[in-house]
Formats: sequence, C-alpha cells, structure tokens
Amino acid sequence: MASTPSSQSAGAVASPSTQSTPPGPGSETPRKFAASEIVALFVGKKRKKFEIRKDLLIAKSTYFQAALAADWEEGKSNEVYWDDEDVEAVSVFVDWLYGRDVAVLGLTASSLLFCYDLAHKRGIVSFKNDVMNAFRKWHADGNFGCNPILIQHSNGRGLSDTPLHDCILRSVVEGMVKRPNEFLEREDLATRLDRTSENSDSSRQIIDGILRYLSAPWPNPHYEKGSCYHDHPDGKACETEKCNK
Ligand SMILES: [Zn+2]
Repeated sequence: MASTPSSQSAGAVASPSTQSTPPGPGSETPRKFAASEIVALFVGKKRKKFEIRKDLLIAKSTYFQAALAADWEEGKSNEVYWDDEDVEAVSVFVDWLYGRDVAVLGLTASSLLFCYDLAHKRGIVSFKNDVMNAFRKWHADGNFGCNPILIQHSNGRGLSDTPLHDCILRSVVEGMVKRPNEFLEREDLATRLDRTSENSDSSRQIIDGILRYLSAPWPNPHYEKGSCYHDHPDGKACETEKCNK
C-alpha cells in the first residue's frame, strides 16, 4: 500500500511529512507527468474510489503537490489512500475541484464542518475559504445560526484555532446575549447547550466569549462586513473580492 504523507496537526498548512524530504512545492525538480494523468483517490474504510486529474490536484493543493511528487510512492503509482476521511466531504472537494460552488450544494452546517476539517488537515486553502463562504451563506440564508453543539464538534476535530471556529463561537455568543429567549424557550437548544457544557473547552470558550461580547459587542458574524473568516497563509491575496482581511 502507498505511504501517504501524514496528516497535518491542527492549524498547520500541509507540507510533506518531516520523516523524509521529497521535493516540495516550488521545488526545482522537473515534473515528469502530463496534465492528463489520473489519480485514484481511495477514501474511507470501504475505499470509495475517486478518479481525479492530477494537474487539478497539484494546482489546487500544496498537499498534493508534495504527495504526488515523483519521489513518493503516490507519485509513482498515482494512487492515494485516505482511510480516515469522510466520503461526503471528499465528494464535495472533488465537485469543487471541477468548478462547483460549495455554497450551492445545500449542505448542512455539520457537513460543511467535515469539509472544512478536510481542507484544513490537507492544507487545501482555497477549498477551505470557499467552504467558509458557504458556511456563512448557509446562516445568512436564514438557517438558525446559534447552534452551540457546533462549538463542541469544532473542538473535537481540532479546529479550535481556525477562523471557522471563531465564526461559530461569535455567532453562538451573539445569539445567546441578544436573543436569550431562544435558548430559554427552545428545548432543543437547551439540550444542545447541555451537551456542549459536558466539554470543558467549549464551556470555557462560551463564557469567555460572553464576557468579551459584553465588553465590546460584535455584529452577527454571518453579516459582518470587512472579514470573510478566511485563511491567508504567507500573506497571499485572497481571491474573493469582498474580502479585505
Ligand atoms: Zn479572504
């Protein structure tokens, strides 16, 4: 079986494993593959197979630039194994690679969180930012924006230092302080809050957020101007015009 470079820890932009050092993005090593080559990506325990153009993967992801370099097993075999990834999230990623807007797929907040997790772990920054756009649009389209359980899910997936987590937390806190009756009167939200409180990180973040909000209130992050909650590694310009972060 091919030896996939290890997943990155939370917050890291993907680069190849430090165990060995194959040529990375920007390397002078000439590429020996043609644009038309196909990579077979096997996902999950049942190894669902996705066939993807190699040039697309390399153009969109520093992770694949490294993983598909000629010195890696994957670069020779054109086979990549992602046993631990979510099949639906990878399906969205493949759709996105071929030009589909994530925001029009009608995904739930939980599904978007899975997609964001995939993009974050694999260092696929453009996908990550487009998932973020879809997440904000999901709420702006009228879906309920104060689901505290999302904070716990985000913490559980190691996303606590990401812009997505910041957006979720600010949304929950803004809703709790400005519309407390929604939490007091809706049994489903009370249940979710109970479940969130079982996680000490989530509880501490909510309490800290409430104190920060009372000190300096913020607008609902889904409508907030001037920030798109994107990642802009290395100071690269954002492809989204309205983003001025
Ligand atoms: Zn941006």
